[in-house]
Amino acid sequence: MAGLSESIQARLKALAEVFLRELPVRLETIENAAHDALVASAGSDDIQELRHHSHKLAGSAATFGFHRVTACAKRLEHSLDLCIDGGRLPSPDEREAMQRLVAELVEAGRIRTSEGALEELEEAEPEQHSDVRTVVSSSPVPAATAVTGEGDSGVADRIVALLVPDPELADLFSKRFSFYGFDPIVLSGIDELSTLGEPGSSVALVVHTHYINDGQKTAEAIGELTERVQSGLQIVYLSDRDDFDMRLLGVRSAGAAFFSSPFDINRILDTVDGLTSDAAGEPYHILIVDDDAEQVSYHALILQRAGMITSVVSDPRNMFAVLIETKPDLILMDMYMPECDGPELASIIRQQEAFVGVPIVFLSVETDEDKQFQALSRGGDGFLSKPIKADHLVTAVSHRVNRNRSMRFFMERDSLTGLLNHTHLMESLSTEVQRSERVNCGLCFAMIDIDHFKRVNDSYGHLTGDRVLKNLARLLTDRLRKTDVIGRYGGEEFGIVMFNVDATNAARILNSIREDFALLPHESGDTEFHCTFSCGLASFPAYDGPGPISEAADRALYEAKEAGRNRLILAPVE
Ligand code: GH3
Ligand code: MG
Ligand code: MG
Repeated sequence: MAGLSESIQARLKALAEVFLRELPVRLETIENAAHDALVASAGSDDIQELRHHSHKLAGSAATFGFHRVTACAKRLEHSLDLCIDGGRLPSPDEREAMQRLVAELVEAGRIRTSEGALEELEEAEPEQHSDVRTVVSSSPVPAATAVTGEGDSGVADRIVALLVPDPELADLFSKRFSFYGFDPIVLSGIDELSTLGEPGSSVALVVHTHYINDGQKTAEAIGELTERVQSGLQIVYLSDRDDFDMRLLGVRSAGAAFFSSPFDINRILDTVDGLTSDAAGEPYHILIVDDDAEQVSYHALILQRAGMITSVVSDPRNMFAVLIETKPDLILMDMYMPECDGPELASIIRQQEAFVGVPIVFLSVETDEDKQFQALSRGGDGFLSKPIKADHLVTAVSHRVNRNRSMRFFMERDSLTGLLNHTHLMESLSTEVQRSERVNCGLCFAMIDIDHFKRVNDSYGHLTGDRVLKNLARLLTDRLRKTDVIGRYGGEEFGIVMFNVDATNAARILNSIREDFALLPHESGDTEFHCTFSCGLASFPAYDGPGPISEAADRALYEAKEAGRNRLILAPVE
């Protein structure tokens, strides 16, 4: 496990020490359970009990590198399964064989205990047959450093730097980027690249190809910048020439995008937005469901070290509260827990529409392919075998989250604006209202409708109308908090769910966005025009359910239109 930081190594070692300390008691427990199940007048309950102990021991021993213990425990578990599945008690021969396995297991455990035996932890490798089905790729984990807890921590700042030879163009770009919440830096020469960027930050460099014509000097400056900010650098080239050679030069000079004059600032903004929002992505949030505290800590530590956030459910009954609260990117689930098993829990999760899209990956010592297959058919998305190398766990998990995030983006988002679509907006409203009820805080729902939008289409054409919708979507995204949910309700209507805000503050924020939107110039050929919107706002708990709150916001929006448009009306609190 080269590369683990010292503090993580120390914590892993501490966990292994706890396991080692408790191992004698566990061995005794399994000996006693074996006596009850195999020697005394055994009933099926005793068999189940022994199976449970051997399974748990196989799992944690695997995690901490006690391979012989794991191997014996797994064989024991397998033999017990044959009896349980056949609805019978073990035959005398089987009993004898199982007793031998228990004796071997206990001996292996005691020898390792007396050796201290911890140094091998670092070599804990999956056994040959263990099957890491998840495709292993080198997909990177987002460059975030958050470890635990919730919040917006760990998201790098987005820096936009402009390097264009024409001061007027620089000024125009700078103004438009500022409008959308970027804080653009206007550079006056290639030398100033050295002032940009720290590791982990996300830098978009919008640069004119004028500067790459001088060859070496620019290449070196960009190379140094790339080294400083690593994967966070995105370069967008602007050029007065649009021919193959120039585009090739752009690609060879690390360009992610290329625009030729006349420059469409909106498209450039969209591109910069898209390029930087990926790099500045939220850290992955992984929910670990396992009743074994040691294993939870072990896997959580490995994932945290890779920059992910982890939450834990040890009692399946708490599952839904935690799911709603943490909205994990992926669930890493143990196969066997005393209250209910992993596949059962996966089925329960899959029956709820809001959680259909969360990937569930089982992490278990189960090697029986039929059992693995059954588990997958009950709503699981993948199977990882214990023990698993730290690198493999991180890669398998981040690969899945990465793919799922991009797939979800297309499923849940409106393709024009990139905002949540109607269905997912309303689903969010419903889960956020539940969350507000539980944690006893306020929530607001706003409905926004562009004024006289039909006239925009009629005067300037549908494409320009689309551009206005995108401009509003971007303004909302940039001005609201990450925790606010923004969706396209339909046509030229938008919905916003604002968690933990009272009506007064929500109205203040939305009114300031409304005023800015009215100032935002839209372009159509050589003409500029302006648009306004009207807004209806309703709050929880004054309206105490997703239905009442959205109806109240809709009525308030209607009133705002009636009262003359370009205004916000708050639904009356009765
Ligand atoms: P009001 O101030 O009362 O809201 O007037 P309005 O013209 O905005 O409202 P109305 O509901 O009469 O018209 C909405 C228009 O929005 C009609 C429709 O063609 C247009 N629209 C809906 N979806 C889109 C879209 O995706 N792109 C474009 N360009 N126009 C759209
Ligand atoms: Mg409308
Ligand atoms: Mg309208």
